[in-house]
Amino acid sequence: MPFSRIYAALPERFSAPLAPAPLRNPQIVALNEPLAHELGLDPDWLRSPAGIALLSRGTRPDGAPPVAMAYAGHQFGHFVPSLGDGRAMLAGEVTDRTGRLRDIHLKGSGPTPFSRRGDGRAALGPVLREYVVSEAMNALGIPTTRALAALTTGESVVRETLQPGGIIVRVAASHVRVGTFQYFAAQDDVEGVRILADHIIGRLYPELTEAENPYLALLEAVTARQADLVARWMLVGFIHGVMNTDNMSIAGETIDFGPCAFLDAYDPAKVFSFIDQNGRYAYGNQPDMALWNLGRLAETLLPLLDSDRERAIEQARGALMRFDGVFNETYLGGWRRKMGLALEENGDARLAGRLLAAMHRGEADFTLTFRRLGEGVRTGETEDLVSLFGAGSGIEDWLGDWRARLDREERSVQACHAEMQATNPRLIPRNHRIEEMIQSALAGDYAPFHRLVEALSHPFADAQDGLDAPPAPDERVMNTFCGT
Ligand code: AMP
Ligand code: MG
Repeated sequence: MPFSRIYAALPERFSAPLAPAPLRNPQIVALNEPLAHELGLDPDWLRSPAGIALLSRGTRPDGAPPVAMAYAGHQFGHFVPSLGDGRAMLAGEVTDRTGRLRDIHLKGSGPTPFSRRGDGRAALGPVLREYVVSEAMNALGIPTTRALAALTTGESVVRETLQPGGIIVRVAASHVRVGTFQYFAAQDDVEGVRILADHIIGRLYPELTEAENPYLALLEAVTARQADLVARWMLVGFIHGVMNTDNMSIAGETIDFGPCAFLDAYDPAKVFSFIDQNGRYAYGNQPDMALWNLGRLAETLLPLLDSDRERAIEQARGALMRFDGVFNETYLGGWRRKMGLALEENGDARLAGRLLAAMHRGEADFTLTFRRLGEGVRTGETEDLVSLFGAGSGIEDWLGDWRARLDREERSVQACHAEMQATNPRLIPRNHRIEEMIQSALAGDYAPFHRLVEALSHPFADAQDGLDAPPAPDERVMNTFCGT
């Protein structure tokens, strides 16, 4: 088995080696075979006792110990100098079929030196949730950690109630977070920050070694990836829910699917997460919060940018200023595609803004609005679309202006329709479907889980599975939870 040990080979203070105890009865409930192939891992081996030992407690064929990674983080704006993998571990890296290094990481397999007062465990519900949502994000074309496997442990975990224990095995380009940089910076360990930055440049941004100032180039590159990522979230109505700096990946992947949720009805102030009482991570705040987090990353890099602090701050500011440009390009380009516009006109941003305002007033379903807009291009009818909007939304006026704008496009109706439906998903992981899937799994029926995973693997295809319907009033999910 081609396991590397790259992060674990960094200096001792970067991670803690683990010797996890065996679990009572680890069983695979889902194995992502296409992903296993992509990673060069044999699914039959993963299902063998040796494979299950790897997936359940990070036991590597070469006997090297898994490690818990050290990190810090701002949680809801408050700095915590030592968080770290309290219930997770890095088994190691594998080289995938395209030659990229990918982390194999387990969550829920037991306590670590970073567990603080936690039990080191995960409940099965949140594990299945992460599996479904992270794979759905990938199918939507959004950078994300992937789910290689979900397991039950045969043990119970205590949350509000007693629940079956689970493990999620996830795959990432790297598990280094903004909070990892903060961990070393908070201890004035400039050498640690430098080693970490060099590790990340070598692994994720090798082209930057040639830059005049590689550390400044790193800040610019991470800023660009995060700006692009958050714009993509916005375009599908995704709310991460807990964008603390320890949950922001340096690789620019969506990571840590705790209380995340997708919008049903459009509302820029929408919050699902029960713990986000002030709406810090509301849907519409996400770009600002991403930039705030990048400011914290920039602070950790200052000593590497320039020996003169004022000059270093100037440089960091310049790098962060790039956020808006990248964000707006992905964001506006995205709305244009969602509205079926290939040409660029100055009024397009306003047109998108007016549609969102009508959706907000009319409490229209985010996903169905765009999907039906695309249908309308093909059929020439908009009744199905208009029926999504409550009274007084102003959607009829907007449709008139949109049609006039579409008339100035130069491509065929077929081409426009095809691109819209390849941009506007029919399916997103709806909160009520996830809840329903979890309840079934807890009762021993995994069919809805597998059905959801399968359907969400082709979110742009037409199908009659009923999974695209918004929740009925009594199905609406009001709050989501971290499950920690
Ligand atoms: P999260 O909100 O899931 O990103 O976790 C924040 C921090 O709390 C991380 O350092 C986690 O490792 C830690 N943590 C969360 N749940 C547990 C748990 N059940 N046991 C130990 N540590 C945990
Ligand atoms: Mg986290």
